[in-house]
Amino acid sequence: VTSTGVARHRVVIIGAGFGGLAAARALRREPVDVTIVDANNFHTFQPLLYQVATAGLDGDDVGYPVRGIFRRQRNVAVRMARVTAIDLARRVVSTNVGDPLSYDSLIVAAGAVSNSYGVPGVEDHAFALKSLDDALAVRQHVLARFEESATDPAAATDGALNVVICGGGPTGVELAGGMIELFEHVLAKDFRHLDVAHAKVVLVEAVDRLLGTFQPASSTTAQRVLTRRGVEVITGVGVASVEPDAVVLTNGRRLVARTIVWTAGVKASPVAAMLGVPLTRGGRITVDGGLGVPGRPGVYAVGDIAADGDHPLPQVAQPAIQGGRYVARAIARELRAESPAGPFRYHDKGSMATIGRHAAVAEFPNGRRLSGPLGWLAWLGLHIVYLMGFRNRANVLLSWTWNYLTYDRAARLLTGEEEEAPTAIP
Ligand SMILES: Cc1cc2nc3c(=O)[nH]c(=O)nc-3n(C[C@H](O)[C@H](O)[C@H](O)COP(=O)(O)OP(=O)(O)OC[C@H]3O[C@@H](n4cnc5c(N)ncnc54)[C@H](O)[C@@H]3O)c2cc1C
Repeated sequence: VTSTGVARHRVVIIGAGFGGLAAARALRREPVDVTIVDANNFHTFQPLLYQVATAGLDGDDVGYPVRGIFRRQRNVAVRMARVTAIDLARRVVSTNVGDPLSYDSLIVAAGAVSNSYGVPGVEDHAFALKSLDDALAVRQHVLARFEESATDPAAATDGALNVVICGGGPTGVELAGGMIELFEHVLAKDFRHLDVAHAKVVLVEAVDRLLGTFQPASSTTAQRVLTRRGVEVITGVGVASVEPDAVVLTNGRRLVARTIVWTAGVKASPVAAMLGVPLTRGGRITVDGGLGVPGRPGVYAVGDIAADGDHPLPQVAQPAIQGGRYVARAIARELRAESPAGPFRYHDKGSMATIGRHAAVAEFPNGRRLSGPLGWLAWLGLHIVYLMGFRNRANVLLSWTWNYLTYDRAARLLTGEEEEAPTAIP
């Protein structure tokens, strides 16, 4: 409530990912009370999850406490809770803890979850790579298999150490590149008596090339580099089913592995369905040109969970960040009774994927490409710049320098209980 006794405009933001954070920060000077709700008390920098899974970085290098981000922004309250229901008619958001939150404006930015596409066995036997818990579980599982094999050297040759990655988009390519480096440069030295060369990293992609959203030349580079480094790349063959210790391909081939990671795609978070409004095929909330939910004034959706039916934007960080800022500005204009801004326009800044040491591909909107060491340096620089928090940036820079100079990966302690079953993919 303001000094004049007028209730301040209440904004509820669901999700402290790229979109939610961008929106909350852009509202910092506006006369609004913001509540940002997230199931975790930290923001996850998903682009570096594969480095956690392959022991290059620690979990807390890629997460940042949400309360720390808003410590100095007095108009933001943080609630760590899971959103369980949204009532658009009454304008309230219910969470698993605390009273329901009433809003005047709602920004839904709950992101995406892994999509098994109904392939049998994926939900039961494959790891996802969407959250920090997923990344830590993959790392733990891989390292634990090596420790087991220390007393059973035959395991290296019977496939227990193999890792199969299903899905050859940027996440699959980055994970495969990071995993083969972990095998060759670290685990082969840690487990000298094991024949680690027999342990395979296999990357499976259903369409006929890796990095399907990139230019064909980038796909060729990725496949060439990964193959040269020892990854078996299989393209043009789908996954028929996943078993506890194998991936069965649509051509009948059976890839034996104890660690299976599903990076084949995502669908919108189940929060989308809580709105009871039309969804796109991938379960995303259909938004209008101003990122609003049609017929629901004051309700917006941004990032991976939203799609403008005609032109769905890619599910990457920039559309979420730019969308979050745009919606914050739209709310501010509305409060000042200014005419609405024009429709949201996404500025494509290009795409990048790293393949491993000295190798990455980068593509710019003007059609130019970078690959090799130059692309790799650009990738490293950009990820440091976008990473949240000085401490995280300094830690990551130090870890990368150390890893680069020594070929070592320090983040390979086995602590806590190992997950019995892989993290469930909804
Ligand atoms: C492994 C991986 C690598 C990636 N690499 C890149 C890359 O290199 N470059 C790039 O641009 N993009 C990359 N992406 C994609 C990028 O991370 C996403 O597009 C981006 O995070 C989307 O932002 P968002 O705000 O929509 O959602 P998110 O950042 O996913 O945030 C959603 C938030 O909502 C919260 N949430 C969800 N459901 C609930 C609920 N019921 N209650 C409360 N909170 C909830 C989640 O905890 C999460 O914090 C990568 C993604 C992954 C998984």
